[in-house]
Amino acid sequence: MSFIDTLIANTIRPEVQADHAYVVADADGFIKLDAMENPYSLPAHLREELGQRLAAAVLNRYPLPSNATLKHKICTRLGVPGGYDVILGNGSDELISIMATAVSGGARRPVILAPTPGFVMFSRSAMLAGATFVGVPLRADMTLDQATMLARIAEHKPALVFLAYPNNPTGNLFDPDEMVEIIRAVGDTGIVVVDEAYGPFARTSFMERLPEFGNLVVMRTVSKLGLAGIRLGYMTAAPKLLAQFEKVRPPYNINVLTQTAAEFALDHIEVLNEQATLLIEAREKMAAELAALPGVTVFPSAANFLLVRLPDADATVARLDAAKVLIKNVSKMNGLGGCIRVTVSTPEENAVFLDAVKASLTSH
Ligand code: PMP
Repeated sequence: MSFIDTLIANTIRPEVQADHAYVVADADGFIKLDAMENPYSLPAHLREELGQRLAAAVLNRYPLPSNATLKHKICTRLGVPGGYDVILGNGSDELISIMATAVSGGARRPVILAPTPGFVMFSRSAMLAGATFVGVPLRADMTLDQATMLARIAEHKPALVFLAYPNNPTGNLFDPDEMVEIIRAVGDTGIVVVDEAYGPFARTSFMERLPEFGNLVVMRTVSKLGLAGIRLGYMTAAPKLLAQFEKVRPPYNINVLTQTAAEFALDHIEVLNEQATLLIEAREKMAAELAALPGVTVFPSAANFLLVRLPDADATVARLDAAKVLIKNVSKMNGLGGCIRVTVSTPEENAVFLDAVKASLTSH
């Protein structure tokens, strides 16, 4: 073995050695419907003003680690209940990692549990933190398998349970009563994270229910709202619990440019909310058009994407590829045979997607 290979064998954890880095598809020249981004940008006059703010930002100093102004704007403009603070992350990806790290390590090998298929970072962060990930398969209609969820919770006493609401990659909202039953069943042996990354498109939230449950964390992000590029997630929970996670957060994780851009965008939150409304309308239209196609099933979605089952996913994916439309092919994931996940976009981009799907069905 070479020096480097021996070094790696001696130093890097076997799970990391066996893993691969997170893959992001090359989207150059494609209509990008794979990553649940908002296709709209801020209007030109706001971008100009933002440019001036960014130009004036102090870059030679570290950002203020308290982020007090930004946190205040998040709390007051994004529906965090009174009396609750937030912790900020470099995307909610980082918050997932912070929580996994906070419960793991030492002599413990905790269980982190989530329904599957689910957001990949739940299992990845569990693995990287040295926790055991337990996935509980959803039922065929993508609803929670509640009996199995409760049985696995009783069996493993998970330190963390992730429930994405709406769920990715399925798009649906789990039954909130079943989620409450899970939060109660987990009790004081585990923390339940309701991940509301797609909350802006769902018009429902667990935020208001925070006072009912001491073991509840509600996590959100500005990524899907139109600010994926700045990387900013936030989470809230009972102050004493939040204070534990704060110890794990890297002190300067929110950079000055993100802080500046986020504060500016939150001052114009109505623009982003209007864009979310447009995307909700586009989702309903696209779902209806897809559902009318022969052999196509569209799963209910409260997010800015649709899970679609096709008669021949590979043929449709090839057609979309030829039309330069990038979607996420999830057809090889357990429970998602024949499915693709497509982000809802502008009317023009949605039309290109639909035309390619239709063409793939007629040539099938
Ligand atoms: N949670 C869910 C359910 C997601 O789908 C995503 C992004 N795909 C995230 C969290 C992460 O979002 P971000 O890191 O951009 O805030």
